[in-house]
Amino acid sequence: MSAPPLFNRLALIGVGLIGSSIARAARTQGAVRSIVATARSAATRRRIAELGLADQVVETNAAAVEGADLAIVCIPVGACGAVAREIGPHLKPGAIVSDVGSVKGSVLREMAPHLPAGVHFVPAHPVAGTEHSGPDAGFAELFVGRWCILTPPPQADKDAVDRLAAFWRLLGANVETMSAEHHDLVLGITSHLPHLIAYTIVGTADELSQVTRSEVLQFSAGGFRDFTRIAASDPTMWRDVFLHNKDAVLEMLGRFNEDLSMLTRAIRRGDGDALFDQFTRTRAIRRGIVEIGQDSPAPDFGRPHPDLPHEPLPRPYAVDDK
Ligand code: NAP
Repeated sequence: MSAPPLFNRLALIGVGLIGSSIARAARTQGAVRSIVATARSAATRRRIAELGLADQVVETNAAAVEGADLAIVCIPVGACGAVAREIGPHLKPGAIVSDVGSVKGSVLREMAPHLPAGVHFVPAHPVAGTEHSGPDAGFAELFVGRWCILTPPPQADKDAVDRLAAFWRLLGANVETMSAEHHDLVLGITSHLPHLIAYTIVGTADELSQVTRSEVLQFSAGGFRDFTRIAASDPTMWRDVFLHNKDAVLEMLGRFNEDLSMLTRAIRRGDGDALFDQFTRTRAIRRGIVEIGQDSPAPDFGRPHPDLPHEPLPRPYAVDDK
């Protein structure tokens, strides 16, 4: 017999990539008895209903959280404060409020003041995603084997934190708890800075005058191609991330610029040892990520490749088999 649902009524505010993946995974895993969802636009609300992602689709954020024992806000971080102000008076005592924002300090600062006493606020960040957006982009397996970081404030109710952790584990995630400030520093280097670099390099390539845009597309080698995937991420989401994690990103960007200057100098001076040492160190990091199961060991991330033609390859030096 399967375990009873962890929550009765899950309210999802915002049903894009992350919200719709939560809905799909929560359904598949029987994590909640019912799901009520809303989104900002009528078009998205209609799509949520068409896809059958929720038991009920409502028009306002306030209506969504009525009677919910878990409400998860899945919208860009810059909009979280205003939504907390809207839902605050409608939350039921004892409800858990969470979010999925990629920045945690600003979410804590901007949402917490609007949530009434007796409601438990446990911010969260599932470190899982793709470059796609919207309710069609989600899938139930998105969180499997990925980390979900909870950043409860120091006075948070332990039972509420444990219940939210159990929810994320049921969706397949590994759960870690840390302070919001530490989260923002860690994600500043592992996620936010790489996105900024991708946005920069793809923009730089686009502006080159001696290399045509069609050449950039045609000859996009592995390195550039991977940057273009990251640089295709949602502009609103990422604008908000950089505006709301300003201090940590600037700190990491300062360090990055120093290291880039060091490599620039090594290239200018022809210092092959410095380049070799740096590349050896970074290769070990990639191998470490694969070893702990956070990425595929297959070449090119295990992407499928077109089959080679089936004709036997020429064997000019082979001895005659017969
Ligand atoms: P998404 O696919 O673009 O969906 C965003 C949702 O938020 C949509 O339902 C949208 O409604 C709603 N929304 C947008 N602006 C809003 C506003 N001003 N007020 C109220 N609702 C608004 O985004 P997502 O990728 O799911 O990202 C959602 C959150 O998850 C972000 O905070 C992001 O930082 C975080 N996150 C993202 C990833 C990732 O890889 N994408 C990974 C981890 C965490 P409409 O469709 O009606 O506009």
